[in-house]
Amino acid sequence: MHPAQRQNQKLSLIQYWKESGLIHSQKLIEAFMQIQRELFIDDFLMDQAYADHPLPIGEGQTISQPTTIMLMIQLLEVESHHTILEVGAGSGYNAALLSLLGSKVITIERHHKVAKQAEYNLRENGCSNVTVVIGDGKLGLSNQSPFDRIIVTAAASEVPKHLKKQLGIQGQMVLPVGPPHACQMMCLKKVNSTHYKSTSHGLFSFVPLV
Ligand code: SAH
Repeated sequence: MHPAQRQNQKLSLIQYWKESGLIHSQKLIEAFMQIQRELFIDDFLMDQAYADHPLPIGEGQTISQPTTIMLMIQLLEVESHHTILEVGAGSGYNAALLSLLGSKVITIERHHKVAKQAEYNLRENGCSNVTVVIGDGKLGLSNQSPFDRIIVTAAASEVPKHLKKQLGIQGQMVLPVGPPHACQMMCLKKVNSTHYKSTSHGLFSFVPLV
């Protein structure tokens, strides 16, 4: 596929988001324009970079479809001074978008090989305010907490308690909760150290948080 055709597909997605009203954050659309999704996936998938479906990234994992990623980040309501924790670095693409919206991103990935690829992709794309950490994201990173925003990109059976604790007061966490093929997108706002308000945003399909 000619790069111009890929660019047209990218613009069609944006047009769809704007016309449907799904994505209304201009800053987020600018970030999507700036980051090249094709650089976060295998060469043989490049023609599908802007098709609105998930793509394999190795080790049985997937990068979510663009619309899902955009909806999640929009729900997160990132501000430019925010420190963001992501669980599930995958390809690093989501972290790259977040790096343009917030001030600092830490992303945790349990698969060593996937984490190294994410690190490489992020470096190649000049995302210098992102750190990739290898480990179990359910535990968060207590020594770096509290976080202004937390995003989990794999389906959790319940909201991980360590992540709830590591969210700052007035902070927000976006995560899919429930069975992988029918999980509910949740947005959790921390009102005070013991009280959270949650809202639901529809059913999605994700790889499991393990
Ligand atoms: N955000 C990614 C897509 C993530 S797919 C992107 O932009 O490409 C979900 C990822 O979560 C997978 O890479 C999987 O290995 C990882 N994962 C699953 N359980 C995890 C855990 N407990 N801790 C850290 N990463 C986990």
